[in-house]
Amino acid sequence: MKKFPSEASSPPAVRPDYLSPSSVKSYLLCSLRFFFERVAQIRKPTTVALHIGKTIHATLQSFNLARWRGENSSETAMEEAFSTHFLELEKTEGPVDYADEKTRQKVRSCAWNTVKAYMASDEVTSQMPLGVEVGLSATIPGLPVPVRGVIDLVQHDLTAVDYKSAAAKQDTGHAAFEHELQLVTYQMMIEEATGDTPPSLDLSYLVKTKTPQVIRVKIPPADDQRKQRVADLYRIAYEDITTEHFHPQPGMQCSWCQYRKECSGWCSK
Ligand code: SF4
Repeated sequence: MKKFPSEASSPPAVRPDYLSPSSVKSYLLCSLRFFFERVAQIRKPTTVALHIGKTIHATLQSFNLARWRGENSSETAMEEAFSTHFLELEKTEGPVDYADEKTRQKVRSCAWNTVKAYMASDEVTSQMPLGVEVGLSATIPGLPVPVRGVIDLVQHDLTAVDYKSAAAKQDTGHAAFEHELQLVTYQMMIEEATGDTPPSLDLSYLVKTKTPQVIRVKIPPADDQRKQRVADLYRIAYEDITTEHFHPQPGMQCSWCQYRKECSGWCSK
């Protein structure tokens, strides 16, 4: 395991080749948690929410790729894909902390019903995607490394769509604010790749309620001020990561943080 940042030797050991929206968001939320997870790479059991979120995401990817390639995207084929992803993710990212087998089956069934609701929704019937899991990068002036990301789906009009699975219906304004960094990054990537601005930056929420819901949140593309704000966040995060600024940032996130034991052992000297 890597040492605590204050014990690390110089020159700085943390020098990423690139940044991603998720890495910077994680750093900004709590820099010490970022250190434990992404620098020291301390593995923790996968939470049920993360396992299910990844299973749903992987199944939607299989579904959209099958449609895009003209392959079998039937409910039967996707149920098989869902089962495969569920089991594979348990193996590769597990153990998953399910309370017992009954809970595991109940959660699994709820997740599959949510995927079915998506496949039957207007989201699918309205149009075919231009691209699925589109990996792009953006150059930010003053940032020595590129920003890289993978967009879940790009529509023919260049609208970027990101899937989110949620336990309850989200407040639209809050969702837009919370995911601003990720969505504006996608806009910058699309602009760099195509020279055009996407007409909208969308979140597609799959809500795992008793009757699953699929809700599209549309966010207007960013103006120069919003893009500047996001670029500044990348520059600040890079500077702080490479100079090893890692310290506790207590807040709401501590209630679901898996590194509380390690965190309590932290001190700056
Ligand atoms: S317990 Fe809170 S302050 Fe400590 S590492 Fe986790 S999120 Fe950060």
